[in-house]
Amino acid sequence: MADRSRVRSVHWGMELHDDAFWQGQFSRPAQRMGSAMTRELWKVAGRPGIISLAGGTPSPDLLPVELLRQVSDKVLREQGQRALQYSLTEGLPELREWIASRFAGATPDNVQITTGSQQALGLVAQTLLNPGDKVIVESPSYLGAFQAFNVSMPEYLAAPMDGDGLLVDELEPLLAQRPKFIYVLPNFQNPSGATLSLERRQKLVEMARAYRVPILEDDAYHYLSFDGVTLPTLYDLDHRLGGGNVIHTSTFSKTVAPGLRVAWVVGPKVAVGKICQMKQGSDSMTPTFSQLLVREVAPLIEAEFVPRIRAKYKLHCEVMLEALRQHLPLARYSVPKGGMFFWLELPRGINTLELLDAAVAQGTVFVPGSTFYPDGSGHHTLRLSFSNASPDNIRLGVERLGKAVESMAVTRP
Ligand code: PMP
Repeated sequence: MADRSRVRSVHWGMELHDDAFWQGQFSRPAQRMGSAMTRELWKVAGRPGIISLAGGTPSPDLLPVELLRQVSDKVLREQGQRALQYSLTEGLPELREWIASRFAGATPDNVQITTGSQQALGLVAQTLLNPGDKVIVESPSYLGAFQAFNVSMPEYLAAPMDGDGLLVDELEPLLAQRPKFIYVLPNFQNPSGATLSLERRQKLVEMARAYRVPILEDDAYHYLSFDGVTLPTLYDLDHRLGGGNVIHTSTFSKTVAPGLRVAWVVGPKVAVGKICQMKQGSDSMTPTFSQLLVREVAPLIEAEFVPRIRAKYKLHCEVMLEALRQHLPLARYSVPKGGMFFWLELPRGINTLELLDAAVAQGTVFVPGSTFYPDGSGHHTLRLSFSNASPDNIRLGVERLGKAVESMAVTRP
């Protein structure tokens, strides 16, 4: 029989809803979870007078507001009830078909629509990982992926990179440790801006097959090449070798609008089917209305949206490059060929977490690089985004960052 006096004393001895009570209730994955640095930065970035070079958010004037207003009207007029109703967990058939048509050998059965590719990363992790399983990640890698994967409590194996992406030749000792998958961002990587060369792509796909280690390809920035050159996806290269070893995810967030939260997974049918079951338990389905909007504007993406986005980010990148040359002569970086980011290495004595305080004092923010390393290293690195700020603000933000670096150099012995 329950000891009623004890239950009562526990109940009365502490505030049931105080912080300590709730902290004791949290699951192990929840305890491991911290608030992402970028979310915290967001708050600072929103302060009046601060120029944010932190978030990888689209330029506001590229968001197709007027077009989506018209398309919303059309969708609601023609398919209003369907747009507002529950729909299939897999996603709308016409959208899955459109996506499948973009991948060699894929059918709609290979496609799962997700609520952002952030959800796709979490679902893949939950589908494949048990606590303690190993995952190879690039070092540095996408911070949001660590958050998505951490729920599944993996152990990270950090794979080194250079300006051409993952150092595939150094992968063998990691593959030999039998990881569950390799997480790779082949195009204009977040955060480093690096693009995996064709030669390395081919080798990576071959090695992964030889070791029977699946690849999770995150291709969020696929369309954002400045000169229009886009190398074949790991999914397509794997398909040429027989297929079945790559799960690919990408998103409409970078080409249409992140607020719609529509993205996708393309992969082997059996894996996609299991991801669908996991999604069912997560949020049942991706919003029907958003999917219908995306399907309506899909024919415009490659023909109209993408050329505009490329031209704008190319210009922003050039402006940032010029400002970096002028105001940050100490920094080392490669010039990205697409995407949204510059990755800077400062002299090793400069800790960019400390630099962030100095930068806020000057009126700008960036993301300290250590947040992108699975082991928290890279203290002298940082990520700058050129997508969201206007060219004038990019110049001013980099100038302020330059002053912050100088102020640190002055205060140091
Ligand atoms: N992958 C990468 C590499 C990203 O940079 C982002 C967004 N910052 C995402 C996935 C998630 O994007 P979304 O959820 O908006 O599709």
